[in-house]
Amino acid sequence: MLYLPRYRYHGIMGFCNVWDKKIGLTFPSKIILIHEICHAISVQKHGTAWKIRMRKAIEIAQEREPEIVPDLENEIARCITQTDMPNRERERLIINEVKGDANYYHDFSEALDGLLADCGIFPEYNRQLYHKIHDKAIRAIESTIRARRNSNVTE
Ligand SMILES: [Zn+2]
Repeated sequence: MLYLPRYRYHGIMGFCNVWDKKIGLTFPSKIILIHEICHAISVQKHGTAWKIRMRKAIEIAQEREPEIVPDLENEIARCITQTDMPNRERERLIINEVKGDANYYHDFSEALDGLLADCGIFPEYNRQLYHKIHDKAIRAIESTIRARRNSNVTE
């Protein structure tokens, strides 16, 4: 079996811990860096506060580096079409997936990190949320496996 951990392929380009003001990039990109800086000085979500900062960055770019303006415009369009899913909903999605495929997530512990990353949950981004959902997922995996084992015994 060829196993490809999801987190290497989830396609995330950058993240920003808005509390620590720490930014991470998975590849060098001025656009993504500006995107993350706009989070650092506003909020985690791609809402109005973030958009205002991005618009300000575009204003500055029009003066200093007009060639990147279209890329910044595209970045806003790209991110506002991605809905910022509430944490509760993301948590429900994750718990449902790990319950459905409990053995897989039990055997490949990196897959859970991959799934969390797919849902935008990184320890670097929000350690508390990461641990909360990670621990809950582990418990869901273990109780699902236990329940399946018990139902097999009685068959
Ligand atoms: Zn963002």
